[in-house]
Amino acid sequence: MFLRGRTAFSKEHLRHHAQKDFFAPAWKKAAAAIPVFAALLGLFTLVGGLANAAALTAGFALMYITYEVIHRRAHTHGPTGPYSRWVRRNHFSHHFQNPRRNFGVTTPLFDMLLRTHAAPGQVVVPERYAMRWLCDPDTGEVWPHLARDYALRRASKPELRAQEDYREELRAAYSGAPPQA
Ligand SMILES: [Zn+2]
Ligand SMILES: [Zn+2]
Repeated sequence: MFLRGRTAFSKEHLRHHAQKDFFAPAWKKAAAAIPVFAALLGLFTLVGGLANAAALTAGFALMYITYEVIHRRAHTHGPTGPYSRWVRRNHFSHHFQNPRRNFGVTTPLFDMLLRTHAAPGQVVVPERYAMRWLCDPDTGEVWPHLARDYALRRASKPELRAQEDYREELRAAYSGAPPQA
């Protein structure tokens, strides 16, 4: 439903899937979100007065920002505990196993209600999409402590060159130091 690229939102979503490390710029997200929150503020004001409406809208805005931050961090930083491990497995199963499952990033609640939840198994990540925190840049293999949750799908021959570039990129990014686990 979000994958057809019809609205600005779904176009950005498609690009987020298709392009490694692509996130719509923050100003674009804000530009899309502000009218929505303004409309909510107006609607809630009619029901409960301005003070209550402002508090409720601020709450929703905070939830939205938290969601965006957690999503970005899932792509840029490795898991540090049970919740961040769950977020990453769930979200990368959406990216790489089934983009029609596990739309939610921070909670499985809405996927459960909409019957789009699927428990992730080991997530197989195409090598050229591998998150920066997934692999040891020296070996090109998934870090041992992450190997239970993730595996790499090796690129086919025409992609080998891109693979090499990517390893160089990883090496340059970390210059030998392990990424934040
Ligand atoms: Zn994502
Ligand atoms: Zn998606």
